[in-house]
Amino acid sequence: MESEKIDPLIEPLAASQSFCFACHPQVPCFNECCRDLNQFLTPYDVLRLKHHFKMSSSEFLATYTTRHTGPQTGLPVVTLVPADRFERICPFVSDAGCRVYENRPSSCRIYPLARVMHRRREDGKKTVQYALLREPHCRGFEQGQTLNADQWMENQGLLPYNRYNDLMMDVISLKNQYMPGPLAFAEQRLFYTLFYDIDALRENKDLPALADIDIPDVAGASDTDLLRFGLDFLKTVITARRPG
Ligand code: SF4
Ligand code: SF4
Repeated sequence: MESEKIDPLIEPLAASQSFCFACHPQVPCFNECCRDLNQFLTPYDVLRLKHHFKMSSSEFLATYTTRHTGPQTGLPVVTLVPADRFERICPFVSDAGCRVYENRPSSCRIYPLARVMHRRREDGKKTVQYALLREPHCRGFEQGQTLNADQWMENQGLLPYNRYNDLMMDVISLKNQYMPGPLAFAEQRLFYTLFYDIDALRENKDLPALADIDIPDVAGASDTDLLRFGLDFLKTVITARRPG
């Protein structure tokens, strides 16, 4: 059965549906989508990019990102600083394509799909919905492999990104449930560090809000273990605020 079309640009994509797409230097629009950007990074995006540049997370964040605060939630958000502030060009694009291709952010990998994960509150059961974005400037639909959404996820190396992005969404959803409204300043710093600045956590510095908790010996932990620890720890902090 064909999915109902809800918008000229956004088509729901059922699990069984396939689409045809390819992006490579021969498409006439090559690099078009790497400008006019408002590129948000997830915690796992930061982890992969700091690894790419062999920087600490603190160095990467200071060099390439701007920090924002959600006005309704107080949640910290980081975006890439564009190379050109008028055209908002990605700092990592070159004539030959993406300079960080093997560690490019999840939003670049997943395009032209959108993915929404729902977790049922009663039993934690996860469901995922997909949609296809057909933007007029993008010529990638004219050729290429025919894949369904799961195949696209695998093909684009998205499985680890989805795993950690889903954990981040769990934290945000818990925060909105048990800590509605803007976070206090110390809480914002805690979320920022545990979401994005895992090397500050590793060095256990600049964490005033964590001063009264036991941090396990994380000096030798892998980056992904640290990220998971930080996200799990935030869940513990938030759940402790649960009323009654
Ligand atoms: S606009 Fe589409 S086809 Fe063109 S470079 Fe971007 S993703 Fe690839
Ligand atoms: S990270 Fe790479 S793919 Fe993503 S916008 Fe920048 S240059 Fe384009």
